[in-house]
Amino acid sequence: MSTRAFTNGECWLYCERSGVPVLFVGPFQENDVVAPIFACEDCLNKMRGRARRYIEAQDQAPAR
Ligand SMILES: [Zn+2]
Repeated sequence: MSTRAFTNGECWLYCERSGVPVLFVGPFQENDVVAPIFACEDCLNKMRGRARRYIEAQDQAPAR
């Protein structure tokens, strides 16, 4: 099973739409609960932008 294939389902991220093409982005884990997180393309793009800003902030952090 490919984890990079779109399936129709519910977006777990910002838009919370259902019946849209979503991609598995990773497991959610808390205590005994493990669930697959799915996200649509729009929300994935938001997440990519956020991840990029995170990386940039890490790069700009003073060296310890
Ligand atoms: Zn979405």
